[in-house]
Amino acid sequence: MKRACKGYKKAMAKITAEVEKAWQTALKARANAHSPYSKFKVGAALKLKGVAEAIPGCNVENASFGATICAERTAFTQAVAWHGRFEPEFLIVATDEVQATVPCALCLQVIAEFSSDNLPIYLANTEGVQKQYTLKDLLPYPFRAFKASP
Ligand SMILES: [Zn+2]
Repeated sequence: MKRACKGYKKAMAKITAEVEKAWQTALKARANAHSPYSKFKVGAALKLKGVAEAIPGCNVENASFGATICAERTAFTQAVAWHGRFEPEFLIVATDEVQATVPCALCLQVIAEFSSDNLPIYLANTEGVQKQYTLKDLLPYPFRAFKASP
């Protein structure tokens, strides 16, 4: 079953119920973000092939700013902790910004460590999914020291 999220842009292809469910997971994770410094809450949800529930992530800031970790990376590090080896199906990132917010370069590099170039990355806000890209769209030339196996 396919349907659109509230506020969904007409120009985009319809998203699946699975993506919408992951969007809800990302919004719940976003509510738990620890962002006392930036006040910029971000949620993410990483859907894995063969795993029903998407893995949530949120940004976790630190007084020592370098120790801050983004929502996308918390989702991927949780996937490693829970599953060891896994195959990402898609990632969704949610903020409350009007403009779609793309993952930072550090996160794109971490995503590339575990994902194929055609991994769908959905960008959303609290109203719905705003954009869909692939990893290759956002990081055309990732650094890969070795071929990561799923
Ligand atoms: Zn990031």
